[in-house]
Amino acid sequence: MWACLSKEVNTPPPGRRWRAFPWLADARLHSGSLPNDHDPPLRPVNRPRPTRANRASVAATRAVLCGLCVCCAVACDRTHQQADGSLMETPGSLRPVRARLTSDAKRVRVRADGPIVISESGGETERGITGNAWRVIEPDSRTGINIGEVRSTDDITLTAESGVIEVSIMGQGEWGLPRRYPGRLRLVANDARHLTVINYVDIEPYVACVVASEIWPDFHDEAYRAQAIVARTYVLQQMRRRRNAEHDIRTGESTQAYRGLRTDEVGRRARAAARYSRGVVCTTPVGGTDRLFTTYYSAVCGGVTQSGSVFGESPELKPLAGGVACDYCRIAPGDTYRWGPVRLSTEDVRLRLAARDPAFERFSRIRSIAASERTAAGRALAFRVEDSDGRSHVVPAETLRLAIGARVLKSSEFTVTIDAGEVRFADGRGFGHGVGLCQWGMQGQALAGKKAGEILRHYYPGSKLSRVQ
Ligand SMILES: [Zn+2]
Repeated sequence: MWACLSKEVNTPPPGRRWRAFPWLADARLHSGSLPNDHDPPLRPVNRPRPTRANRASVAATRAVLCGLCVCCAVACDRTHQQADGSLMETPGSLRPVRARLTSDAKRVRVRADGPIVISESGGETERGITGNAWRVIEPDSRTGINIGEVRSTDDITLTAESGVIEVSIMGQGEWGLPRRYPGRLRLVANDARHLTVINYVDIEPYVACVVASEIWPDFHDEAYRAQAIVARTYVLQQMRRRRNAEHDIRTGESTQAYRGLRTDEVGRRARAAARYSRGVVCTTPVGGTDRLFTTYYSAVCGGVTQSGSVFGESPELKPLAGGVACDYCRIAPGDTYRWGPVRLSTEDVRLRLAARDPAFERFSRIRSIAASERTAAGRALAFRVEDSDGRSHVVPAETLRLAIGARVLKSSEFTVTIDAGEVRFADGRGFGHGVGLCQWGMQGQALAGKKAGEILRHYYPGSKLSRVQ
């Protein structure tokens, strides 16, 4: 509850009552085949430029469909107009994505064009503050949250009336790069020193922001569209799996990058791709029903895709079985299609492994590293590491790669030898985990004239495109 009021706290405008929003409405997904899942597989969603009257109508419809109050729907409506000059309507049955920006912020500052509404979880009241200057938010020593002179003992949610809120996060003493996010922010005090920040954002603006964060700027339009579909499918699958969790997805490259709104040409093309593919997802039949699956993707597969079993996916799940041939990613820049050799001392490797897996803390000098399990395509799934005293431990290939460094060992596809106290990783292929879609292969196929649907069916065999409504 509120502990005190700032002089700058606003009262609700005439005719409007501050109230809490039902943030956690459940998702209701409705799948169905595209009317035309052939070439071309997608159809642009052409919408007339909204008039004042139909903007109000859409806002009211969103209020009913999303279970949000009208004032929120209007705010969302503004978000989409501000993002691309036209409405980007999210399928009505879907709740917002809960994208966790951080879980260990020492301080957060926010600003917006116009007022920011602050609401407490479970509270019936809200407060408004002007948002044109930075407002610093920090955890309170009594496990509350301070916003300037305002203090709350509950979680709070910030909603900018403009629909876009600018955020800068302080982790280790420096303010992070400000980013502009559509939707709302929820802040939770983990303890007296750290805040969790979660962005509640509608699916389609989220997808556009992910595409703008993940894509290479000069990629082909069909690559942008394919990226939009995998980003949408990926997050919807996370929302299904994590419906009872605090958040649906993190925002770094370990899931899919989400860095807020971009106003440049990349941002414009990303929004166009999201709009073109609105609601379209990848599905695969499971038990006679079309289901979403986790559309993993990585930068460069290096010639053949990896099995999803490295992430615990069932080998029976055909789209993620791996072994899909791809030489389109030869066009990838730098040493990514082929890389190496990389040389590290055995002690350096031991220390890096021990930092990731405590089982290596007792290891003496590493004597051998050898693949202990391989996919049908020959890619290592796990490595057995032995020390000079006869200890051994099996580590998943992707874990070994991340322990050494994701940019040192660009993939888990390599040969490894040890000689004279030096570990030599050679014959490296690809950049990233290699499961599912190959992003540079996607670009190569788009340049060769393939449509987004064809590209996705190539990398996810047995899948098809469906549309959530
Ligand atoms: Zn590839």
